[in-house]
Amino acid sequence: MLIDYHVHVVGHGEYKFDTKRLQSYLQQAREVNLSEIGLLEHDEYWQQVDFDLIKRIQQDNSDINIRLGLEIDFIPGQELQLSSLISSLPWDYLIGSVHFIDGWGFDHPDYKDKFESGNIDSIFDQYYNLVEQAVDSGLFDIIGHLDLIKIWGHNPIKKSPYAYAEPVLKKIRASGLVVEINSAGLRKPVKEIYPSREIMEQMFRLSIPVTLGSDAHNPQQVGEGLENCVELLKKIGYRSMICFERRKHRVIPLDL
Ligand SMILES: [Zn+2]
Ligand SMILES: [Zn+2]
Repeated sequence: MLIDYHVHVVGHGEYKFDTKRLQSYLQQAREVNLSEIGLLEHDEYWQQVDFDLIKRIQQDNSDINIRLGLEIDFIPGQELQLSSLISSLPWDYLIGSVHFIDGWGFDHPDYKDKFESGNIDSIFDQYYNLVEQAVDSGLFDIIGHLDLIKIWGHNPIKKSPYAYAEPVLKKIRASGLVVEINSAGLRKPVKEIYPSREIMEQMFRLSIPVTLGSDAHNPQQVGEGLENCVELLKKIGYRSMICFERRKHRVIPLDL
């Protein structure tokens, strides 16, 4: 039983949310044996989500659970605005992600030069400060790609990358949030799952639950790298993962 809870249909707004495209995602989901697929757009493209179409697609494809989530860019000060978007629509789950530090889209290849000119320690500091605020906001069910800041392979000097993440894990534990194990890092220069093994080991010690996502931006990427995630999670000791329906969670066995 494999699930993929991080599947973008419209990408960065360049593709249509229509039957043809959805069918190609479902076809791939069947090929990689998903029992459940979570369609997840970035919040800035939420208006492209066709809720009636989703309903029809769910009815016509009862062999696979189709969930609908939203990946929200956590930007401090926008919490109030977000809460109406969150409460007015039937999302199954919400992922809170940090992609911007003071307006700098650090995970975008066009802007990565700032890592070279900046202080990596302070960049890590600022990043995890934002993740902490996302946790504290209480808006989300899941924290997405927890250590995304490593995307281009940069390492802090004063402390290990793990030392920057560790305080946030305690907060995540206290707030009952789920952490996404995201395979997209495997296809980025860092060549690592998000989050790192060291972080996952501490998550396991703290009994932080997990879910799985490929961060697919096209149908071929659905399920990509998730077997590696499951293997690693099992090595660490995980035996279950979390699914969502209308923001209620359900525990399912972790297996392929
Ligand atoms: Zn993201
Ligand atoms: Zn994403």
